[in-house]
Amino acid sequence: MSALANNYNRRKIAFKKGKGSFLYATNGKKYLDFCMGIAVCSLGHANPYLIKAINKQSKRLWHVSNAFQIPEGEKLAKRLTQKTFADSIIFQNSGVEATEAAIKVAKRYFYSIGQPKKNRILCIKNSFHGRTLATIYASGSKKMTEGFGPKIDSFDHFEFGNHQSLKKSITKKTAAIMVETVMGEGGIKVIPDWCLRELKKICNKKKILLILDEVQCGIGRSGKFFAFEYSNVKPDIVPIAKGIGGGFPIGAVLMTKKVASGMIPGTHGSTFGGNPLAMSIGNAVLDQIFKKGFLQNVQKTSKYFHSELNKLKNQYPKIIKEVRGIGLLIGLQLFHDQTKFIKKLMDNKLLTIRAGENVIRILPPLNVKKKEIDLAIKIIKKVCKEYNS
Ligand code: PLP
Repeated sequence: MSALANNYNRRKIAFKKGKGSFLYATNGKKYLDFCMGIAVCSLGHANPYLIKAINKQSKRLWHVSNAFQIPEGEKLAKRLTQKTFADSIIFQNSGVEATEAAIKVAKRYFYSIGQPKKNRILCIKNSFHGRTLATIYASGSKKMTEGFGPKIDSFDHFEFGNHQSLKKSITKKTAAIMVETVMGEGGIKVIPDWCLRELKKICNKKKILLILDEVQCGIGRSGKFFAFEYSNVKPDIVPIAKGIGGGFPIGAVLMTKKVASGMIPGTHGSTFGGNPLAMSIGNAVLDQIFKKGFLQNVQKTSKYFHSELNKLKNQYPKIIKEVRGIGLLIGLQLFHDQTKFIKKLMDNKLLTIRAGENVIRILPPLNVKKKEIDLAIKIIKKVCKEYNS
């Protein structure tokens, strides 16, 4: 019996080594990993550049408290602000800490300008922003909140794609609208650019802050550094995590100068968040992602992947309902429950992960090679064929 709690439905497989797009299991088999720790290992497993960076920093300094200056964090924050909408950053260790901090920043901003009653956050029903008490109530999903009452009463909800429901849900108390630019766990549902622009207009008109959760779709996964860049919308607050650490736990909340003004000393903090080891790795990830041509290459490979998957959809129209997503955040929606299909892919040595609405989530590393995409297509095709026969 495992001494680990039973809060995960773990597959019966363990790995001893990873390299690039592949994982080597203790059962001796080699798997093409298009799960990548759920969009975390942005540069693949055991990336030599990241190994060098972690080795170098680990010999120098791992951790000091945020009671002191941390030049590695100053550097990472400066680079992120120079490349994005943000003026200011708070570092954390995970996605949920970043989304929770985003909620705090929004509330605190209105408090600091003398409007403490403007303190509610409007979210999409059944979205995903993490698993703390606050963020499960931000999601509003029954499955996530069941058994965790009393309710954290800060959140209102609207239906994805329902503009009437959105407009009706805004009140004088709404401080911010928080949405995932691409709903990941919910089934790889992309908010169309025109909707994001409308959302921003509504926020401007009603003096509401816009929080775009890019924990899963950010850091190059969409083919741009942030997925919202396709729409030219400028958010006020953006939580990030996953890909920025390439496998090391890093989270952050990015914000404009205006909203950062409420975050005075004592309003937020983290023991580990932003330590020198994490920050050096974050800087090394950015060295790669900001390299000339890196994001263009993500766009190119993802275009190829999407077109190959769409060919499969046309060949197997009774199995594949839709190819969803943007960049290398891809969803293959089936007509039926995807569990068996994911298992068959794994039996054929391709690792993927589920999402809502019968979707198979496909998350290769951002530096995936064409021949690895071809291998994945071959495996998916084989499983489709087996389904058909
Ligand atoms: N926000 C989004 C959009 C996510 O996809 C996730 C995780 O999947 C989170 C927040 C929470 O991140 P973490 O699991 O690192 O706490």
